[in-house]
Amino acid sequence: MSLMFSSPVVTPTIGSFTFSSRRSNYIVMSAVRSNSASTCPVLTKFQKDCATPTPYLRNVANAIADDMRAGLAVEGGGDLDMILTYVDALPSGNEEGLFYALDLGGTNFRVRSVQLGGKKKRVVATESEQISIPQKLMIGTREELFGFIASKLASFVAKEKPGRFRLEEGRKREIGFTFSFPVKQTSIDSGTLIKWTKGFKVSGMEGKNVVACLNEAMEAHGLDMRVSALVNDGVGTLAGARYSDEDVMIGVILGTGTNACYVEQKHAIPKLQSKSSSGTTIINTEWGGFSKVLPQTIFDQEMDAKSPNRGEHLYEKMISGMYLGEIVRRVLLQMCETSDLFGQFVPVKLSTPFELRTEHLCKMQEDTTDDLQTVGSVLYNILEVEANLKERRRVVEVCDTVVKRGGRLAGAGIVAILEKIEEETKRMGSGKRTVVAMDGALYEKYPQYRQYMQDALVELLGDKLSHIAIKHTKDVSGLGAALLAATNSIY
Ligand code: ADP
Ligand code: MG
Repeated sequence: MSLMFSSPVVTPTIGSFTFSSRRSNYIVMSAVRSNSASTCPVLTKFQKDCATPTPYLRNVANAIADDMRAGLAVEGGGDLDMILTYVDALPSGNEEGLFYALDLGGTNFRVRSVQLGGKKKRVVATESEQISIPQKLMIGTREELFGFIASKLASFVAKEKPGRFRLEEGRKREIGFTFSFPVKQTSIDSGTLIKWTKGFKVSGMEGKNVVACLNEAMEAHGLDMRVSALVNDGVGTLAGARYSDEDVMIGVILGTGTNACYVEQKHAIPKLQSKSSSGTTIINTEWGGFSKVLPQTIFDQEMDAKSPNRGEHLYEKMISGMYLGEIVRRVLLQMCETSDLFGQFVPVKLSTPFELRTEHLCKMQEDTTDDLQTVGSVLYNILEVEANLKERRRVVEVCDTVVKRGGRLAGAGIVAILEKIEEETKRMGSGKRTVVAMDGALYEKYPQYRQYMQDALVELLGDKLSHIAIKHTKDVSGLGAALLAATNSIY
C-alpha cells in the first residue's frame, strides 16, 4: 500500500528545497499514513499523546523563542544555553592560504587541509582523512588521546604534496578545531570541557582547556601547528555553508544528537559584556536542552528515566537520531505485552534497549510493497520476530507517529530561530532571502522526517516561506572550521 503526502514543497533538487508555491506537490512514498484507523488501544493512546496540531506547534515555537531570549539575557536564564561562540565574522570568500580542520566528535576524527585561493579561485585544493579512534583511547588518559591525534595529524601533514599545498613562509599551520562536546568557550581559540558525552570518558580533561591539551600534544610530537579557532559542528556548518551562499543565517545538525547555531545581532544579547554592541555574532543555541511544553508520553518518560541526563534534553530526546528507534521499541514492547502483537511471547531482542535503531525505522518506512516485505525482514533480522501483515502495518504506524512528531518539533525549532532573526533584522519583511543550512544523517537519509519538518514550516510560517530556503549542506563543517581558522588567523 502506498499513500501520498501532499505538501507545498517544490524544487526536488538534491538535498535542498525552497518554498515557492503553496500548491505544488512533493510526494514521499510511505508504507502507511499516520492517522489511519487503528484498533490497538496502546497505539491509539500513543498517537493521541504524540499529536502536534498546528496550535500546539505554535506554542512550542513560542516557548523555544522565549527560552532563547532568556538565555541571551543571563547565563542559565532558560533551557537553551545560548553559548557565545566568539565567532563574529563569517567567511567572506576572500580567505587565502593553507588551513586545516580537525574534527573530534564521535567514533572518528577527521583531518582536512584546505588551500584557499581568495574570491576568484576559492578552494584550490583539499585533502581529508578519517581515522577511527580506538575504543580504549576514549576511556583512557588525556595524553593518550591527544598524543594519538597529534601523531595522526603529523603523518597527514607529512604526506602533503608541496605542489598542491603551500604554506606561506614564516607561518605556522593553523587549525580550526571542531570539538563536538559541551564546551564553555572562553575566546575564539580556547574553551574548557564541561563534560564528556557520547561514550567518551578521558581522564584529566574536565575543566581543562581543550585547545591547550591539543597544543601540548602537538608540541610533544614536534608538530609546528596551532589552533586558531575552536568551534562546534553547528558553527562549522554555518560557516562552511556561508562560504558559498551569503544568505545562510542558521546551521542545524540533525544526526545522533541535534543542535542549531545562528547569526544574532549583538545588541540583542544583554549578557554580552563587551563595549561594542554593534554588528553580529554567532550563537550556539544548544537547543537540544529545551525541555518545556513537549508532548511527552509514558514511553518518553521511561526512556528519560533510564538516561544519564534524566529530565534534561527532552527536545533532543524527541527529535534526534539516537532516540527515535528506542521510543518505537518501547511502544512495540508494550503493545506486545498487552495485546497479541508478535504472538504470546515477548521476544528477547524487543526487550533490549536501543536494539531498534532509527536507520531501521527509515528502512521500514521506505517499504512500498503490498505485503510490506522489508518491514517483515527488518523485524525478523533485528528483533527476531515473525510478523504478519497486520502486525507489520501496526509497526509502521508506530514508526510514523514517532517520526512525525520528531520532524514537526524540529520544524518548530527552526521557526523559532527564523522568527527571532526576523524580529531583529526584518530581513524577510524587506524581501531578503534567508537560508537554513542543514546537516546530519537523520536529515539527509530520512525522507519522511524531512517531509514532516517541512509541513511544520508551512503550517507555522505560511506565505513568509517564500523568502526561506532549507538547504542540505553535506559535510561542510570541516571546510567551515578551516575557513574560521583563516578568518581568525594570528597573521
Ligand atoms: P553524528 O551526529 O554522530 O555526527 P551523523 O550525522 O552521521 O553523525 O548521524 C548519525 C545518526 O543519524 C545515527 O545515529 C542515526 O540515528 C541517524 N541515521 C543514520 N543513518 C540513517 C538512516 N539511513 N536513516 C535514518 N537515520 C539515520
Ligand atoms: Mg556530525
